[in-house]
Amino acid sequence: MLTPNMHYSELKDSYLFNTIYRKTAEYQSSHPDKKIYRMGVGDVSRPLCDAVIKALHTAVDDQATMEHFHGYMPESGAPELRKAISEYYRRFSVSVSADEVFVSSGACDDLGDVLELFDKDNTVLVIEPAYPEYVDTNILCGRKVIHLDSGEENGFLPLPSEEIQADIIYICSPNNPTGAAYDREKLRKWVDYANRNGAVILYDAAYEIFIEDPDIPHSIFEIPEAKTCAIEICSLSKTAGFTGTRLGYTVVPKALERMGMKLNTMWARNRETRTNGISYILQKGASAVFTKEGLEQIQKNIRVYKENARVLMDAFERIGIWYCGGRNSPYIWLKCPDGMGGWEFFDYLLNEIQVVGIPGEGFGACGKGYFRFSAFGDPDDTKEAANRLCKLLGR
Ligand code: PLP
Repeated sequence: MLTPNMHYSELKDSYLFNTIYRKTAEYQSSHPDKKIYRMGVGDVSRPLCDAVIKALHTAVDDQATMEHFHGYMPESGAPELRKAISEYYRRFSVSVSADEVFVSSGACDDLGDVLELFDKDNTVLVIEPAYPEYVDTNILCGRKVIHLDSGEENGFLPLPSEEIQADIIYICSPNNPTGAAYDREKLRKWVDYANRNGAVILYDAAYEIFIEDPDIPHSIFEIPEAKTCAIEICSLSKTAGFTGTRLGYTVVPKALERMGMKLNTMWARNRETRTNGISYILQKGASAVFTKEGLEQIQKNIRVYKENARVLMDAFERIGIWYCGGRNSPYIWLKCPDGMGGWEFFDYLLNEIQVVGIPGEGFGACGKGYFRFSAFGDPDDTKEAANRLCKLLGR
């Protein structure tokens, strides 16, 4: 008889998001006249920029003509798009070649797929609070996961120590959910650790576009030694509003080798087997992001989200609540007031001021007593939510 992957039974169910959804829906049905301010979701709310829309339309029309029609695309991405992404890295003074860039259908997909490069017996380190996929994808392949808690004492940016024994290390900077971001000096410590111990860092840079401080790197490859120990996973989801359009990219340096195996060659081979490439239309849309016009236009939405973050940060400054994130990130991570737990604070905000955020425990046990707000919402709603928070929390 077939044996299913029994590791599925080890996954926690989506209790967090289901519970948020249920509680919010119940509140709304018993208070139909009240508007709910949804400050939890990590999804963008603003449309694609003109350059992308134009390129998508043109690509759709291409598919209608004998002359411009495209069938299967190269598995690792259209050469022009790979080149455009490699040129984008020059902004950070990072040199990656086009064949080190692999176009994907999104960071979520590649964060799971990239694990096929590693043996099941490797140990994985997840710095928590964390984006839940890091733990779940490794549980599904039966890999041992160890957790490194972070907290206020280290600004939610823990550093490596030689007691940690891990082969695969997830680093998300700027972080979801905490919004905290490693500066070069701190990130170098992880790079040195990985090179010393033969580990590989999976660097999730999905929020790099929000970075404004010059000492925060946009790419782990701003530390040159990272080329021998890191894979970077990026996405246009938050950068250019592609959450519903779908496109990302992964950088696997040619210098990254373990036991005589080149991970870049392995990943190219993996792509040949596991995908028939990303849609021609989407790659055309994505290419438009990396034009001069596209890169200018995407900033318009980023400015709106950053202004939302500023409004929320101002509110927490006024209230006098501890928080991090917001400055180089669309997320603000705050300490629940008066020793409240995340769910207690959730119920309090929903019932008193109809503002919804996410309890920190959804991102790992050490998130207990913290709360995540997102700056991806509507600006007027964000202002109203901030006013309500200030009034309720009484300062
Ligand atoms: N990584 C992090 C840290 C995220 O927060 C998200 C989405 O919210 C993703 C990856 C997934 O991005 P994508 O939409 O490209 O799959």
